[in-house]
Amino acid sequence: MQVFGLVGNPVGHSLSPPMHEAAYAEHGLDARYVTFEPDPAALDGAIEGAEALGISGLNVTIPFKQDVLGLVEPDDLAARIGAVNTIDFTGERPTGHNTDAGGALRSLREQGVADLNGATAVVVGAGGAGRAVAFALADAGSTVHVVNRTVERATDLAAAVPGAAGHGLDALGELVPAADVLVNATSVGMDEDATPVPADCLHSDLVVLDAVYSPLETRLLRDAAAAGATTVDGAWMLLYQGAEAFERWTGLEAPIDAMNDALRTNLRGDR
Ligand code: NAP
Repeated sequence: MQVFGLVGNPVGHSLSPPMHEAAYAEHGLDARYVTFEPDPAALDGAIEGAEALGISGLNVTIPFKQDVLGLVEPDDLAARIGAVNTIDFTGERPTGHNTDAGGALRSLREQGVADLNGATAVVVGAGGAGRAVAFALADAGSTVHVVNRTVERATDLAAAVPGAAGHGLDALGELVPAADVLVNATSVGMDEDATPVPADCLHSDLVVLDAVYSPLETRLLRDAAAAGATTVDGAWMLLYQGAEAFERWTGLEAPIDAMNDALRTNLRGDR
């Protein structure tokens, strides 16, 4: 049996186990996906132990995405983002990857905008998700504006992302009307009816991705839909980051429909 899992703290409400196990069932794989909550001080030992025990792959979430960077061999994208969310133990040495980046791109491409090359994108947030999305969009050929509550984090990130500029939240009223793509990569809207983006700057030519997936229909997405924009909820990003990890670990094509069904069933809590 192959073992995969998630390392984070807390991981109790993670949607990754049902999503990945749906993929194993679809492919008839003898595999399990389990969650681990190591003490932060024991992270090095946890990763070494996982390798020694023959675990095939781990996803990594808050608060460990930055810390595992030094414990594995990161690929170029993960090194630039400064965060690893997927460890692959199937090669000679553990390698680190960031599938949040590809997950955001694929969700925009398949659910919203076909061509990101030449697009103008506003990324709100400069934490882990904001960093992944900003690098991903720039790599896809978009011009990226990073907007963040703490302006220094926005300007620091923008300085590392080719062609990007950094701003405070007060720039949204000017930037969003001229944008093709808007991504909320802050935690605003999670378990609360709040949005970081004023509704009156949203417009019908915009594609809006909200990385927040609980609730699925955030206030930002409701405002965006009311403005006639195309909306992409955070479960799509979660789905495609998981699909990319599955494909990397197994070499098999991810069964998107089965994974999506499992994810949305569990998000609705009607398992
Ligand atoms: P993080 O590293 O802690 O960053 C949090 C970000 O939110 C920072 O930019 C922070 O701004 C901003 N923020 C927090 N409270 C705010 C407020 N009241 N007003 C304005 N900005 C505020 O977190 P993260 O890992 O990037 O995650 C951010 C969100 O993305 C979470 O909801 C997470 O669940 C979601 N996410 C989703 C996926 C997916 O696959 N769908 C993947 C990764 C993350 P400051 O810098 O000013 O503090």
